[in-house]
Amino acid sequence: MRRVTILGVPFIHIDQDGFVSLLEERISEKKKTFVVTANPEIVMLAQENDEFMRLAHEADFVTADGVGVVKGAQLLGEPLPGRVTGFDTIHELFNRGDEKGYRFYFLGAKPEIIETAQEKIVSQYPGLEIVGYRDGYFDWDDPSVAQNIRDANPDIVLVGLGAPRQEKWISEHLDEFDHGVFIGVGGSFDGIAG
Ligand code: UDP
Repeated sequence: MRRVTILGVPFIHIDQDGFVSLLEERISEKKKTFVVTANPEIVMLAQENDEFMRLAHEADFVTADGVGVVKGAQLLGEPLPGRVTGFDTIHELFNRGDEKGYRFYFLGAKPEIIETAQEKIVSQYPGLEIVGYRDGYFDWDDPSVAQNIRDANPDIVLVGLGAPRQEKWISEHLDEFDHGVFIGVGGSFDGIAG
């Protein structure tokens, strides 16, 4: 898989549709996958925060979340095929999940927000399954968070704790899983709940 490094962050060289298809392959092969969707703010965060830079390198895929990253890449003479946003990626996974019955787990946001978000997704995409959800205000060392996700056996785990907390959580717990696509989704659950 080709990568383009911008300010030290290794972006995957792929377009939006290709990326979702790649995730679908990983789901069907049960390959554990850590995705970081990086907007310009995240690229800047990685400049100041060594730990976040390390997380970006640990991820299987870092995507260019927004036109700012694509433009930056072009200016640096390292063009990318287009943006691959967190928003489009998760909505396309919901569409394809609706057809294929993908199993989702939602982790993050305030209790009433995550409750509403999962209700909305279930009613909009009746063919997918939400096998569990939990708000994002748990004790960091509580082992039941990862345990519950593991027991629910999801294909896709959306983690919306804000960056870099969500990437840190994924990185610290990835070893406890043998499969699953893990994506940091920022404030997406708030957006879905409306
Ligand atoms: N959040 C959480 N647990 C925390 C802190 C934040 O679940 O301990 C959630 C918060 O409720 C919101 C999201 O993380 O849903 C952060 O959204 P924000 O827009 O700040 O993140 P960004 O999109 O900028 O990464």
